[in-house]
Amino acid sequence: MSTPRPAASARTRKPGARVGAEAEGLLPPDEVEEAFRRLKAHMPGRAPGAKGPKDHRDPFRSVVSCILSAQSLDRNTAKAADALFALAKTPQALLALPEDEIARAIKPCGLYNTKARNLKRMAQALLDEHGGVVPQTREGLMSLPGVGRKCADIVMSFTFDADVIAVDTHVHRVSNRIGLTRSASADGTADGLAARAPVWAQTDGHFWLIQFGKAVCLGRRPRCESCFLTDLCLWFSANRA
Ligand code: SF4
Repeated sequence: MSTPRPAASARTRKPGARVGAEAEGLLPPDEVEEAFRRLKAHMPGRAPGAKGPKDHRDPFRSVVSCILSAQSLDRNTAKAADALFALAKTPQALLALPEDEIARAIKPCGLYNTKARNLKRMAQALLDEHGGVVPQTREGLMSLPGVGRKCADIVMSFTFDADVIAVDTHVHRVSNRIGLTRSASADGTADGLAARAPVWAQTDGHFWLIQFGKAVCLGRRPRCESCFLTDLCLWFSANRA
C-alpha cells in the first residue's frame, strides 16, 4: 500500500486550516466528519445480507470462521468452514476432534496446522474460562487463542452488532490515503478510526469504507477522476493535484 505523507506545500485548498493536522498526515476533525458524510451519501451501509464471517449469527461459528480466514481467500475459508462444521458445531465437539483431523478438514484455508492448534486451544479456553459462551467484548474475544484485533472487531460488528469499524485491508488503505487516520498497522488504523470517526459513523463506517475501497479507491489504481473526496484527500493532494 502506498500511503506517503503529504507535503503541506503541495496543498492548494484551505492551506492555513490544515497546517497542524497535515503535519501529522491527518485531516482535521471537521474534514474527517465531512468525509464520512460523503461516504454515507454515496456508499451502501450495513445491510441484512452484509457479507461477514460464515454463519456469523452463531457466535461460535463466527469466531471459528474468523480464525480460518487469516491470510485466506473467502472461497477457501468457506470450504474449510463447511468441512469443519460438518465435523463439529460446538466447542465440546471441536475439542473432541484430534488435531490432525481438524487440520485435514481445514486444509483449503492454508496455515492449517497452526489454525488447527489455535482452534483446539480456543475451544478449550471457551469452555474453561467462558462457560462455553463466546464473550462479547473485544478484551474477552482477544483473550481467545487465534483471535486478534481484526477478528475480534469483525465478530463484535457482524455477530453482536457493536458499533465498531472493523479494519480489513481495504479499510486500512483507504483510511490512510484520505487522512482519516495515520498508521502503518491495521490495528493502529482501528484505534485511529475509533478515536477520530464521528460516533454516528461507527455503526456503518466499516461498510462505507470497504465498498469505497472496492469501487473507487482501488489498491493499485485509485479512481481519483471519479472520486467525491478529491478536495479532502491528502493522498490526492500530494500525488495528483
Ligand atoms: S482522491 Fe483518489 S486516493 Fe483519494 S480517496 Fe479518492 S480515489 Fe482514493
